[in-house]
Amino acid sequence: MRRIGIIGAGQAGLHLGIGLVDAGYAVTLYSDRTPEAILNGKPMALPLLFPNALQLERDLGINFWDNEFPGCDRFHNEIYDPEGNLALTLSSDLEQPWQGVDQRLKFFTWMQEFVKRGGELVIQAMTPQDLEECVQNYDLVVVAVGRGSFSTLFARDAEKSKHDQPKRHLAGGLFTGLKGEAIDYRTFRVTNLPGIGEMMQVPFYAKDKIPAYAVAFEAHPGGVMDQFSQVQSGQELLEVSKKVIQQLKPGDYEIVKDMQLVDDQAWVKGAITPIVRQPIGHLPSGAIVMGIGDAVILHDPLAAQGANNATKMAHLVKQRIIEHGNQRFDESWMQGVFDEFWNYAQYTQTLTDCFLNPPEHMRDIMVAMAQNPEVLKDHFNGMNHPPSIAAWFDAESSKKYLAQKKACVGVGG
Ligand SMILES: Cc1cc2nc3c(=O)[nH]c(=O)nc-3n(C[C@H](O)[C@H](O)[C@H](O)COP(=O)(O)OP(=O)(O)OC[C@H]3O[C@@H](n4cnc5c(N)ncnc54)[C@H](O)[C@@H]3O)c2cc1C
Repeated sequence: MRRIGIIGAGQAGLHLGIGLVDAGYAVTLYSDRTPEAILNGKPMALPLLFPNALQLERDLGINFWDNEFPGCDRFHNEIYDPEGNLALTLSSDLEQPWQGVDQRLKFFTWMQEFVKRGGELVIQAMTPQDLEECVQNYDLVVVAVGRGSFSTLFARDAEKSKHDQPKRHLAGGLFTGLKGEAIDYRTFRVTNLPGIGEMMQVPFYAKDKIPAYAVAFEAHPGGVMDQFSQVQSGQELLEVSKKVIQQLKPGDYEIVKDMQLVDDQAWVKGAITPIVRQPIGHLPSGAIVMGIGDAVILHDPLAAQGANNATKMAHLVKQRIIEHGNQRFDESWMQGVFDEFWNYAQYTQTLTDCFLNPPEHMRDIMVAMAQNPEVLKDHFNGMNHPPSIAAWFDAESSKKYLAQKKACVGVGG
């Protein structure tokens, strides 16, 4: 039986670990925290998954929350102009739900499931030095530690990395007590304020199995939304969140004025410099390990691609491991699998960049989305599978795309 070591029990590591155990591999998963510490700690992110990634979870039988909380099935996006006037409203049902489940609940449950299915879970905060011993014990060691840890092991790929600093400052929490007609636990609401940032209200299943909302902010550094830098506690995040909404979207203040965090720890704050790394980590001994998920491809969360990517990459790596049979997992195999995934992930990166800094021609696409339900549908499909909207990513091909859709270009807004 082939032995696989996985470092990091998050979205990518757990998906890969459970998939490989099911396929008959001997898998050891190293986590820096116990399941209970994850459940009772702070979330590291507030991710929403799209249908293709959700299907991969269903295929593994780890979609434990579908009946209790199918997710959101409506989308409502208000886009303002630089003068603060509402320019466009994009509103539609979604054909398939998008789902946000508190990662604390998800990872806690999946870690137990991994063990139940026969995996070995080791609680140990691993260091790059520990990997030397690890590589002796496994046919393959996969590093899935997310952003931050182990960054020195995987060199920055200067050609693929387009940013050297964060484009947004992030803050958000999981809340109940939002009020008003718009609060139906079905509708994902986004507000775009050009030059200021984006505000999201996302139906979310919180760790104590309560339907809640993730209220999140993506602030342009130094802009008027960027008020979270001094926040040190959930209570402070709550107060600043309400204040920012009152200032920037006073009409929504009634919705949030009585909201409360679902628990003291249910908040996040930070800033991400998007980065792509070399997928192969070289240890001093000359042994190699392979990085997956955020450890090697890290996005700003604005286009909600990171956890979707982590899932899809874990799935691809699992398939390629199985197909590789008893052959050695050498450098060319690792690079080949990464390159195959990059053929897909380059579009998730471009989509995210289009959200962070919309090119001029995206305005025509957004106008068309508001006018033509087919274009809005393509947008939803594009979130789910960004290569499907590759035509949007340069001015010439987007013109052709819009002509094909017989959309009215350049009017409205
Ligand atoms: C505010 C915010 C909102 C987001 N929203 C979205 C969204 O809407 N949609 C989306 O797709 N993505 C979103 N993301 C991104 C998404 O959460 C990540 O891309 C995804 O979780 C990455 O998965 P991963 O497995 O690579 O890392 P993680 O899920 O972070 O898992 C890494 C795991 O490794 C463990 N670990 C770390 N160091 C060690 C160590 N030394 N030894 C052992 N274990 C270790 C950690 O405890 C963790 O459990 C968001 C991120 C943020 C910050």
